[in-house]
Amino acid sequence: MKEVIEITAQEIAPSQKDSFALQGISFGAKVSDNIISLFEHAAKIFMACANPTGLVSDISKDDFQLVYKGEGRNDPDTPVAEVFHKADKLALFAVTVGQEVHDRINEYFLGKDFALGSMLDSVASAGVEKTADRVETYFLDTLRRSGGIGGNALVMRYSPGYCGWHVSGQKRLFEYLKPEQIGITLRASYLMEPLKSASGVLITGSPEIHSFTDAYPFCSQCETRSCRERISRLRQSSGTGDVRTQPASTKKRRRE
Ligand code: SF4
Repeated sequence: MKEVIEITAQEIAPSQKDSFALQGISFGAKVSDNIISLFEHAAKIFMACANPTGLVSDISKDDFQLVYKGEGRNDPDTPVAEVFHKADKLALFAVTVGQEVHDRINEYFLGKDFALGSMLDSVASAGVEKTADRVETYFLDTLRRSGGIGGNALVMRYSPGYCGWHVSGQKRLFEYLKPEQIGITLRASYLMEPLKSASGVLITGSPEIHSFTDAYPFCSQCETRSCRERISRLRQSSGTGDVRTQPASTKKRRRE
């Protein structure tokens, strides 16, 4: 299976909550009317110029092992290395919200409208995440329809540049997936063009395989701890309870 997934801007409309979180505004914080108007303006611009597209291609564990190895610069112990062997199915993915969004962000910054440029940047980043969510759901639904996975299987995604998977892993990922097909290219720095894009692996399997403790050596540098929320969402959707977080005082790696 290798498919281009056309997505409408309406399907990935970024929420105020997600966009504000990327601005460093915590959920429930009191926000001025000006900031809310700024978000509404940025969201309107985004919806008018976003061109969300996704690409997904399944990959065997043997082939993924080679892609994941990349340039040999990954941390020795990572969630991906721990989980992918236990998966039912794997797929590589890439998504973008298009070049025009990036061009508009640049326009606002060049015109010194930093507030709108910054808010549009956050809205676009939230839109990229929603586009990746959409591709994740598409892949899971396709597998469920084909009967290729267990009935309770869930999917979680990981990207080069995060959680111990070195950003140079983009090179082999691009060689295998060829996201140029949907207009995404890779710079020598491993950044994607358009910048508002994402890529990585979708790991599908039973709810238990997606559970790990945030106690890898690099987790101490992690500001978002985003895996906790993602695992928590998966556990809630599968009815397996809440997620446990490694106490700050306990740094030793421990598997659940
Ligand atoms: S705590 Fe951060 S770095 Fe560690 S696994 Fe979770 S998201 Fe990745």
